[in-house]
Amino acid sequence: MIEYDNPKQLARQVAEAARPLLLGLDVDGVLAPIVSHAKDASLLTGIAESVTALAGHDRIRVAVISGRSVGDLERFSFDSALTVVGSHGMEIRGQTMEPLDRSEAERLAELTILAEQAAQRAGDGAWVENKPASVTVHIRDAEPVAGAEALDWLRPLANAVDGAETKTGSAVLELFTRAGHKGRAVNYLRGEFGASTAVFVGDDVTDEDAFSAMTASDITIKVGEEPTLARHRLPDPESVRDLLHELNLRLAEPAAD
Ligand SMILES: [Mg+2]
Repeated sequence: MIEYDNPKQLARQVAEAARPLLLGLDVDGVLAPIVSHAKDASLLTGIAESVTALAGHDRIRVAVISGRSVGDLERFSFDSALTVVGSHGMEIRGQTMEPLDRSEAERLAELTILAEQAAQRAGDGAWVENKPASVTVHIRDAEPVAGAEALDWLRPLANAVDGAETKTGSAVLELFTRAGHKGRAVNYLRGEFGASTAVFVGDDVTDEDAFSAMTASDITIKVGEEPTLARHRLPDPESVRDLLHELNLRLAEPAAD
């Protein structure tokens, strides 16, 4: 039997936590109900207002931290007061990415050579897109059979590169030198903000990376019933909305200290 926290009690605990306070929020499954097609997702009614209001409190920083890219997150129109972190922590809206370290740079160079070879195999119409931590081969405009064969040639070679990850998309294969890690993102933001307490709310497997990187004085909140490292649980985005609403009310009260 899974026990869920009371959102109001949880809000009280967050409001009383030591500040500066970093509030990290996953998006899909936390602020936006899960839908079958990610492009159809939208924020729960009223939740954007609560999130934006929270960012206005003293010594509180609010960050949305998603697996979506920063570009894709634009669909949600998050207020400029929020920190928007995409690609599981690899991208921050308005900032240049944390530079690759030497081994990441070398791996990206290796992946880039493979990508260029694959594009050559695919022939006319294929092209290579270079991104800060990944390289993508596009074959949409290539001869279909040659394009598909080129990606089939590339995939195992890229996966054999130590530390690399690959992701297949529609007529593309993307090769990553750095895997996103939400825990790294939380700790980066914690350091940047000088936060005494970090709070993170997430629903998915990749959110466990954030929970695992947090300390006993932080507040970890899992949404849903799956196994988790988080110490608190809420059932659904509606209860997250209750938590955030109540937290705004609590933070608006005069400080006890
Ligand atoms: Mg999620």
